[in-house]
Amino acid sequence: MSAPRYDAIVLGAGMSGLSAAIRLAQFDRRVLLVERHSLPGGLNSWYKRAGRRFDTGLHALTNYVPRGTSGTPLAKILRQLRIPYEALQLAPQRRSEVVFPAERLSFSNDIGLLESEVARAFPASREGFARLIECVRSANPFDAQAPFASARARLLEFTLDPELVEMLLLPLLWYGSALAEDLAWDDFVILFRSLYLEGFARPEGGVKTLLDLLVARAKESGAQLRMNCPVRRIVVEGGAARGIELESGETLACDQVYSSAGWVETRALAGAPAPQEDRGWVTIFETLCVTRTPHRARGHDAAITFFSQVERPRWREPAELVGFESGVLCCSDNYQTREEPAEGLLRATLLANHDRWSELPEQEYAAHKRAAAASLEELSARFVPDPRPQTLFRDGFTPRTIRRYTAHAGGAVYGSPLRHRDGLSGIANLFLVGNDQGLVGVIGTLLSGITMANLHGLYAQHT
Ligand SMILES: Cc1cc2nc3c(=O)[nH]c(=O)nc-3n(C[C@H](O)[C@H](O)[C@H](O)COP(=O)(O)OP(=O)(O)OC[C@H]3O[C@@H](n4cnc5c(N)ncnc54)[C@H](O)[C@@H]3O)c2cc1C
Repeated sequence: MSAPRYDAIVLGAGMSGLSAAIRLAQFDRRVLLVERHSLPGGLNSWYKRAGRRFDTGLHALTNYVPRGTSGTPLAKILRQLRIPYEALQLAPQRRSEVVFPAERLSFSNDIGLLESEVARAFPASREGFARLIECVRSANPFDAQAPFASARARLLEFTLDPELVEMLLLPLLWYGSALAEDLAWDDFVILFRSLYLEGFARPEGGVKTLLDLLVARAKESGAQLRMNCPVRRIVVEGGAARGIELESGETLACDQVYSSAGWVETRALAGAPAPQEDRGWVTIFETLCVTRTPHRARGHDAAITFFSQVERPRWREPAELVGFESGVLCCSDNYQTREEPAEGLLRATLLANHDRWSELPEQEYAAHKRAAAASLEELSARFVPDPRPQTLFRDGFTPRTIRRYTAHAGGAVYGSPLRHRDGLSGIANLFLVGNDQGLVGVIGTLLSGITMANLHGLYAQHT
């Protein structure tokens, strides 16, 4: 293999790849970060259209805490990556909501609001909900050796109204469960803290604000970044990763490879494919709609509305192109920014079926996309101000788009249902970071990169 030799090569400049690269480079490891795209961010990047900049994904940064709050995931990330809190320019939400056919619950960055909402709507569940909060606060969800426990099964212990259980679960499933119909109790604890005990914010300027900080930190720390640089394969010799081969044919040697490509994708790159059933199924159809007037001026102040049209929404791959049972509506202009927004931006999201979208003949794809978008706009108007009479610009994407831009099999947004909490890939010197390691979302995957770099790159070599 040709020189130079790196201590670590990190595959993918999404959240987890960037944080792993920064962490390793900060401790003088020779690090190369390779990304197949021209822009960083992966599943959470940005693009320009119609004179505006759009986030590809960001609804909300979870785990919001005010400046100076220590001992939380956000504080840990900023400390370990040496990023000042103010640099993120976080605009907190006012509130969000969960809307079911018979009930509506508001929540905010103060758990007191959700407690009072539960007491109002489900008075018989008030005491059980208080016990649940205490249990979540004191749990340790990070024990990699703990056996799987179903969140639905554990929730029975708190004798909550079944409708309340569904309403509490819906946002957690939407923002982090790669399992069908359930989530692991540990993930429930992590997500409950992230969404309900901490909360939502959005960096002013969107995800680019965060990505610019991460890229700057990576460079300052001494990591080399190579964009437009697809990896063709991970070179494995004698059962251990020894480097990578780029699409250009160039080979690069290293002691360790950290891959954020995903479990199935990484194993394929390493020439040891994982079974097809390991592929993730959570993928989405999303529309964006810029409106002439901000949402608050039209009487709607929720940042995120999680809605269900049925009492017990299913959390599984829809049989059709999209599933209309439940969804997420994000009013990106409803965060408490320093300046009032000039326009509204509604992002509407539904579960989707990757294979159905992929099988469509090319000449039918656009028509189906338009039809799904029209139905979704009509549905949105039941929960938030109708975007249609106000539309200045609209855009949208399907699972096909996600697969094309991120190379995730099946356009999966939360990776494989199979988690690899220890980051081990089954091949020596090759470690997983990101969604498939087990922590999802922006904050989860930033933490994943840090934790895996500490565990396998820094701590492991010093002991
Ligand atoms: C539409 C959408 C909305 C979302 N909204 C939110 C939200 O509001 N809040 C939140 O917290 N989370 C959200 N998420 C989830 C969040 O974006 C992901 O959990 C997180 O970004 C995943 O980061 P990652 O580092 O694991 O992987 P990725 O972001 O997928 O990064 C992997 C990178 O590896 C690169 N790569 C893959 N293969 C190769 C190769 N062979 N060679 C070179 N490079 C390669 C890819 O191009 C990509 O850049 C959303 C996701 C989507 C899709």
